[in-house]
Amino acid sequence: MTLTGELFIGGERHGSARKFQAYDPSCGRPLEPAFSVAGAAEIEAACARAHEAFDAYRGLAPERRAVFLEAIAAHIMAQGEPLLERAHRETALPMARLESERARTAHQLRMFAAELRMGEWLDLRVDPALPHRQPAPRPDLRLRRIAVGPVAVFGASNFPLAFSVAGGDSAAALAAGCPIVVKGHPAHPGTSEWVAQAIVAAAAETGMPAGVFSLLNGPDTQLGATLVADRRIHAVAFTGSRAGGLALMQVAAQRPVPIPVFAEMSSVNPVILLPGALGARAERLAHEFVSSLTLAVGQMCTNPGILLALQCPPVQAFIEAARTALAGVTPGVMLTAGIQRNYVQSLERTRAHGAQWLAHGGEGGAANSGRAALFGVPAAALIDQPQLAEETFGPAALLVHCATLGEVRQIIEQLEGQLTLAVHMEESDQPLAQALLPALERKAGRLIVNGWPTGVEVSHAMVHGGPFPATSDARSTSVGSLAIERFLRPVCYQGFPEALLPVELRTAELPGWPHRLDGERRLARRG
Ligand code: NAP
Repeated sequence: MTLTGELFIGGERHGSARKFQAYDPSCGRPLEPAFSVAGAAEIEAACARAHEAFDAYRGLAPERRAVFLEAIAAHIMAQGEPLLERAHRETALPMARLESERARTAHQLRMFAAELRMGEWLDLRVDPALPHRQPAPRPDLRLRRIAVGPVAVFGASNFPLAFSVAGGDSAAALAAGCPIVVKGHPAHPGTSEWVAQAIVAAAAETGMPAGVFSLLNGPDTQLGATLVADRRIHAVAFTGSRAGGLALMQVAAQRPVPIPVFAEMSSVNPVILLPGALGARAERLAHEFVSSLTLAVGQMCTNPGILLALQCPPVQAFIEAARTALAGVTPGVMLTAGIQRNYVQSLERTRAHGAQWLAHGGEGGAANSGRAALFGVPAAALIDQPQLAEETFGPAALLVHCATLGEVRQIIEQLEGQLTLAVHMEESDQPLAQALLPALERKAGRLIVNGWPTGVEVSHAMVHGGPFPATSDARSTSVGSLAIERFLRPVCYQGFPEALLPVELRTAELPGWPHRLDGERRLARRG
């Protein structure tokens, strides 16, 4: 496929007069071709097509949408190396990482296809009529969940495949029955065009309404804000900066009809090092920490940005081992020149708040590279200056020396909401971990014992969410099959004749789906 730089509106390519360019972050040179910028007319057209497609798309049997999702995965995989090469040039992420990200993208799509077939997401419930109940009869009540409406999806800069055009948010929304209008990330428009082509081909092949998918591009915030303000958009999925997420939440809240924004914004993913664990394996922990910290040049939402070390002699051994390991890490190229600039400024702010350098990454590296850093502060400094706990997007972390468990607890209480909180412990540390657990549960979406926050499994029990500002809505996740919940709402059908009911709720069809009959759980009887 040759890139044309066009937008996709309801399955058709569409050019515009205004153009922007992608850049190779490793050298700063522009990449061909120039990409069309979506203006008001294109946003209007994409939202109109999504609105027109909504009833037809959500009305399809779950099996049809499952086949569509599987076809998207197949088309992405069939695009082969050229897709990965383009993503590599636009993001500087290594080919091996992009290959595994592509596998994750296909896995997510297939997982939602399987989810559609299992049917728990429908949450079918039937409370049969009780015409003779005293003192009042009960009408026949049936519930299922339906799609909320067209969803605006913002592609993330740090996952050009798995959290971009056909990433987790798109897969969850499409599975739920929502058409999507994607606002592509301006750092990787060529990758977005490749993936958009896969979605459009899959939609045509499986007979989907064309308005089910549009891709709008542009390098300015006006596009996203106008899209979120459009009356035909019913929910928003976003991964990026706190400023961006907050701005979009404000736009959504100020509409005549406000809509939910599921924004994943910032998290420092604290890791607590308890004395038993430090005593047993300080050096191993330091090596694991450096691997997690420097993965993808630290540009992971689950990057371990804060270590809380309970004071004990092995802390020094941990620092020494981390220093040696970090010195061997060559600075990698960051995703964009802007992200690299933000990173350097954030390191300067950390220094200005009085944090001490404990260790550096190795020297050298190409343009726009990010050198790893480990800072140290006493707990009192972080308690006095909570700004030290703000996210630095890149390979930097702050080691906090805590004299007592009370200080650890005080810092956890003071922390903002997090995606993850991890504890490294031995059996001897269990009473300490137990004492911290209630606070940990209140602060994060995923609690980890003896592991590191990076490496998010895409599965059924995963939660990639957490209290604000980790996300704008702690009741959901953006990774894993539970992510579909964000784009569904319940509808109750009271007193409906059989023929008017949605197919899954009809008496003959109901046993084929998991459901609750008068409150009692029933498994699906298939085949
Ligand atoms: P970003 O600036 O938040 O941009 C993400 C997307 O949101 C882009 O499409 C952007 O559009 C749009 N956007 C941003 N602000 C907006 C606004 N006020 N109104 C409407 N749309 C808006 O994130 P980024 O470009 O990926 O990186 C910038 C910084 O975000 C990083 O340095 C890092 O601090 C943070 N970040 C955090 C995570 C995380 O996982 N926590 C991930 C990625 C980035 P335009 O670019 O077209 O304006």
